[in-house]
Amino acid sequence: MARFAITAGAAALSVLGLAAVGAAPAAAQQAAERPTFATTKVAGTDNVYIFRYLNHQSMFVVTSQGVIATDPIGYVRREASSVYVGEIKKVTDKPIKYVIYSHHHYDHIAGGKPFKDAGAVFIAHRRAKERLAQIKDPYTILPDETVDKKRTITLGDTTVELSYVGLNHSDSTLVMRLPKQKIIFAVDFLPVASVPGRAMIDSYPIEWEASVKRVLAMEWDRLIPGHPGPGGRLGTKQDAQALLAMLQDMSAEVKESARAGKCWDTAEKEVKLEKYVGWDGYAQGLPMVVRRYCGLWGRGT
Ligand SMILES: [Zn+2]
Repeated sequence: MARFAITAGAAALSVLGLAAVGAAPAAAQQAAERPTFATTKVAGTDNVYIFRYLNHQSMFVVTSQGVIATDPIGYVRREASSVYVGEIKKVTDKPIKYVIYSHHHYDHIAGGKPFKDAGAVFIAHRRAKERLAQIKDPYTILPDETVDKKRTITLGDTTVELSYVGLNHSDSTLVMRLPKQKIIFAVDFLPVASVPGRAMIDSYPIEWEASVKRVLAMEWDRLIPGHPGPGGRLGTKQDAQALLAMLQDMSAEVKESARAGKCWDTAEKEVKLEKYVGWDGYAQGLPMVVRRYCGLWGRGT
């Protein structure tokens, strides 16, 4: 995917950092060569940007009336969200009007304070606000406004459509679609050529498949994921289709293991599904995926 860098971030990511996140060899190679953060304009658009910090990323859109930002990605690496605001200011002097949360997980949405200080209105799915209000993470800004099924935000010359497509990786996911640019920003439930892994722990595997089908029925060409795809590329409908097939394959395989009494330990050792060996996160992620499906087929949850 041809995108040009607006800002190359600070020092290159250290080998130590890579070991800590346990990246797959291909991803590790990639990460070792890239700066800590970068802001890129999506090719073929006038105003759609990706801000990446380490292995998390977020979309922002510069409209004629201000900026629509998304996930602050300031979890643990607290400086990331101020860097994000700084990067937006390098691109435009227009105010940051909105921050939209993709879902309730802290690794994507913690650290919103610099955006709040800049006067942004925070929007999330209704369920995200309920969860955040219960747990009260001191670093996560509570949404000001919520979305139930659907909401369209129009700011200046730009429209962003927010859709709840059902339970999937979480119970609070919003798909953000730019109808004019035919781009969606969808986080964690549509990883590009990546095995979901540990992040499946609180997912809804049956409903997830239906939600991917709903997204496939929408009109879009390119997908910005919440973690960079292989080589930093964006996703396509083909990737979404492949992800759906992967979920279906894993589910079918573990169902058989569960019914043969192999959940949990034996299934985690035996289920391989080697056709996905080339996907990022396969080696570390696969046992976690099997564990989640053992929860479903071997336990009923
Ligand atoms: Zn998540």
